[in-house]
Amino acid sequence: INTPSDMSAFWMPFTANQQFKAAPRILKSAAGMYYYSEDGRKILDGTAGLWCCNAGHGRREIAEAVSQQISHLDFAPTFQMGHPLPFELANQLVEIAPKGFGHVFYTNSGSESVDTALKIALAWQRARGQGTRTRLIGRERGYHGVGFGGISVGGIPGNRKWFGSLLTGVDHLPHTLNLAKNAFTKGLPEEDLALADELEKIVFLHDASNIAAVIVEPVAGSTGVLMPPKGYLKRLREICTKHGILLIFDEVITGFGRLGAPFAAQEFDVIPDMITCAKGLTNGAIPMGAVLVQDHLYADMMAAGKGAIELFHGYTYSGHPVAAAAGLATLEIYRNENLFSRAADLAGYWQEAAHSLKGCKHVKDVRNYGLVAGIELESMPDAPGKRAYEVFVRCFDKGLLIRVTGDIIALSPPLIIERSQIDDLFTLLQDVLQAQP
Ligand code: PMP
Repeated sequence: INTPSDMSAFWMPFTANQQFKAAPRILKSAAGMYYYSEDGRKILDGTAGLWCCNAGHGRREIAEAVSQQISHLDFAPTFQMGHPLPFELANQLVEIAPKGFGHVFYTNSGSESVDTALKIALAWQRARGQGTRTRLIGRERGYHGVGFGGISVGGIPGNRKWFGSLLTGVDHLPHTLNLAKNAFTKGLPEEDLALADELEKIVFLHDASNIAAVIVEPVAGSTGVLMPPKGYLKRLREICTKHGILLIFDEVITGFGRLGAPFAAQEFDVIPDMITCAKGLTNGAIPMGAVLVQDHLYADMMAAGKGAIELFHGYTYSGHPVAAAAGLATLEIYRNENLFSRAADLAGYWQEAAHSLKGCKHVKDVRNYGLVAGIELESMPDAPGKRAYEVFVRCFDKGLLIRVTGDIIALSPPLIIERSQIDDLFTLLQDVLQAQP
């Protein structure tokens, strides 16, 4: 199994027949904190699926809501008509969002949420008579999904290089200025605004009158759990406000309690103009994403269109009744079980457990926030990513699902995790790390 073809299986997972036989890890079912594999393994879920199953697996409430909705109203066209559920869901999203986010645009995924937010940013600038503001600013090592907008503003060279020029007029904030200092990975404790101040240089270079929006993940997930230095997001906000640039937080991972507050915007007390989300919105059970939009953007666009929004944008499945039913059932679980504050309450225990890995073989850095942790391993010479991949394979064999990105292990368990399961997770991981050659 430990072959390059296994590593690349992820990218073509459903090639007919062959793949099923060749794939070493086939999941059969899931319940609570565990997956069960085809070959009888019980696997502790250290990643909430792919950062999405925040309420744990196999939630009966969601299954029932989905099933009832399909028999009641399986689909409703999006244009010129509606149905109640997405409105109800929007009301509940607005309840948990920061104040002033009274508008919700539904999508089917994180990638679509990102592309939607970028389009709204461009349209809003044009609606205000600022049609030259077309440039978009992302960040090196940012991940914003796989749509053309998302890979354009995303900062992962490997995801971009196959697709030519992508969106033009995109620039990127740096992820690091000096590897020893000023790096994201150094994390929150250090106040270091130099990285955020780089935005002033970008504004100077392109001129504010050409820039529409900046998009960042408040805590980058997929690229290895990268924490912003203290004050970073606030400074970005200040610079954006000063220059009339919109700030978008991509909260596809950080939304729905992952860091403790409903959204990272509240956790860091920095309010962007738009928030993208997906994943935890339906607990991963049904694809759905959303863009939460500040009232002032909506008002400006309505005014420009003299009472109607002229921008054409929408999906066949925007506000899908079944997805909305799953979303409502999911938010009810979050509320009833206080899962966001549970994440906040467990964060200290989680931190201590994560940091117990410091000093383990090959561990270079441990960073955490809420119920997320990143364990950075020393790379093998000439084989970047191989060490973490081997740790992933061993963990899976022993009954633990982790996520690896390069040589960084990313952990983000369902928010229902018990302390004893946190112990199990880190004990198993420690054993695997110590057994590495
Ligand atoms: N933005 C962020 C921050 C993400 O982490 C992801 C997915 N990991 C996406 C966007 C894309 O979401 P999706 O895979 O649902 O399109």
